[in-house]
Amino acid sequence: MTNELLEQIADSQMILIGIGKEMEENYQGMDEDDFYRPLLAQAQDEKDSAAIIQYLRCHYVRRHPNQRIKESYEKLSDILDGKNYFIVSLTEDDYIYNSTMEKDRIVTPCGGFRALQCKEECSTDQEALVTDEHVILQVLEKIDHCEGTLSSVDFPVCAQCCQTLWFNRIETPGYREEGYLPQWGKYTEWLQGTLNRKLCIIELGAGMEYPSVIRFPFEKVAFFNQKASFFRIHGKLPYLTEELAGRATSFKINPVDFLLGDEK
Ligand SMILES: [Zn+2]
Repeated sequence: MTNELLEQIADSQMILIGIGKEMEENYQGMDEDDFYRPLLAQAQDEKDSAAIIQYLRCHYVRRHPNQRIKESYEKLSDILDGKNYFIVSLTEDDYIYNSTMEKDRIVTPCGGFRALQCKEECSTDQEALVTDEHVILQVLEKIDHCEGTLSSVDFPVCAQCCQTLWFNRIETPGYREEGYLPQWGKYTEWLQGTLNRKLCIIELGAGMEYPSVIRFPFEKVAFFNQKASFFRIHGKLPYLTEELAGRATSFKINPVDFLLGDEK
């Protein structure tokens, strides 16, 4: 972290943060792991193989969290402590929810591992999302004890149509947006309150994945708020638009390295 950014944060009334895919778990470690490799291979033969892979990935991030990503969230949480902030994150690994960050100040429009849903539109007379943490913990425990045999794991099924439930994630067929919309409402309200306030905008690894969620609207907010400062941190796409010249700063570095202070 640079002093310039820390000074702007200290000096600002509100802080808007966008977190992108560069801060996300990449699951590469699973392919090299003797526990997961055979399970991933077996998942390929399952009817809803993409859903089964979601469960295996959930198991992986919960049981083997990436320490560097975890630490970078703690660092961010320290910096934002006591500030009026809001975070929009494209990540789906839930590290942010397992950090000390204030959950009420976070929206994750791509979903994650916190709720299950059916891929069909079948839940007419019941809740569309299964948010019971117990159901998820139970299947993770079954995976713990499966001894390399995926068929011994009973994955949760829809109470209506009896098909395997998927996680409430953007890549799930029929993604249920009600998983994040209540927080999105809080975010847009918060954003309206930034008008004419001294606002510090920080992008951490948000590239061209869903640019209409962070990248483009954040530039627009910075453009219309003359009191805003803008920081773009990205390992590959740090470039700024000319309209923000003089008020924007960019760093070509991976956001995890940036937060942990590693100039790699
Ligand atoms: Zn169903």
